[in-house]
Amino acid sequence: MRSLSSPESSFAPNAAEGERRPDLSAMMAAAFDGIVALDERGTMRSLNAEAAALFGYALQEVIGRDFGMLTPESDCSYRDHLRPGAPGIRRRVDGLRKDGSIFPMELSFNEIACDGERLFIGLIRDLSRRGRFEQGVHELQANRLDLIENMAAGLAHELKQPLTAIGAYLNFARRHLKEKNLSVEKVIEMLDQADAQVFRVSEIMDNLRQFIARGETAKSPQNLNAVVRTACEFTDALARQHDVKTTIDLAASPDMVVINKVQIQQVVVNLKRNAVEAMQNVKRREMRVSTRVVEGNLVRTDVADTGPGLPEEVKARLFAQFTTTKPHGLGVGLSISRSIIEAHSGKIWAEPNPGGGTVFSFVLPLADA
Ligand code: ADP
Repeated sequence: MRSLSSPESSFAPNAAEGERRPDLSAMMAAAFDGIVALDERGTMRSLNAEAAALFGYALQEVIGRDFGMLTPESDCSYRDHLRPGAPGIRRRVDGLRKDGSIFPMELSFNEIACDGERLFIGLIRDLSRRGRFEQGVHELQANRLDLIENMAAGLAHELKQPLTAIGAYLNFARRHLKEKNLSVEKVIEMLDQADAQVFRVSEIMDNLRQFIARGETAKSPQNLNAVVRTACEFTDALARQHDVKTTIDLAASPDMVVINKVQIQQVVVNLKRNAVEAMQNVKRREMRVSTRVVEGNLVRTDVADTGPGLPEEVKARLFAQFTTTKPHGLGVGLSISRSIIEAHSGKIWAEPNPGGGTVFSFVLPLADA
């Protein structure tokens, strides 16, 4: 049979003649979870790379073999699902990796018809990994009160601008209403403008609320490479989702720094997210995250992308608050990043990437400096 993982393959679950067939292989490739397609005997007919990696196998090692090889002998409860009409209930079962280790996973099978054959599509979620991810997110959201002070000053300034604009638009509308040759369109336009500024204010306030929800964490000695690697994990999914190829080269040695781990991770996450977003409309999407020791007992981290480079209009105010060229951007990511790095006696800057794109870099003092 053809492999469902081939790019040309497509599935037609219950598809009526002439209906557009969803491309299952594309869906499988794009999925963050593991997906496996079994036949009625439990033979793995196809699976995505995510699923194979979850169990520590290469795709070709598992295709055509029994799904039972991926579960401990004691647990073959998944077989209950491989019968016509079995409900696609999620259940927690044990998974068995190639190295013999066992991990908790969530499994659900749904039956579909494919080219006259009955197949069972199983969604596999690694619960141990989810636990780690949630912990990471929790840490990232933890304790950011020190930044609120920074934010508040800029915020007072920034709120003044839209509030002044709202006042001006309302004044203009009132004056216009008093005039004899009144243009209703003009008044509506002014009110729309005022409305847009109100929206802007609410966005700024929402953003502040997010910061207030976080707290403060102390600085401690950390291996920067490990901190950067964890931050990279947080954004792996985003990079993959946008087809960005990421290279990680954490060569700094020594790499001991005294930092607030959560905040430095936040900086790396901000830079990586910006890089991914910048490459949305280019063909070559490559990101390189690297660390190395540089002169002055400093350790340097670079996040390089192959995007279009910095827009001319943001260059002068790149690290200032509320600088953004994104329709829904708030322009706080880089300013917060700068606050964090400077609070660690470091420096952050951006330069053009020689091969095209941008490199954001920051340096931090090494712990033994
Ligand atoms: P936001 O992401 O909300 O726009 P940031 O402070 O993170 O705010 O970024 C400010 C602006 O800097 C972005 O809107 C974008 O124009 C520009 N920028 C940031 N990173 C990059 C990058 N890697 N490549 C090109 N432009 C970037």
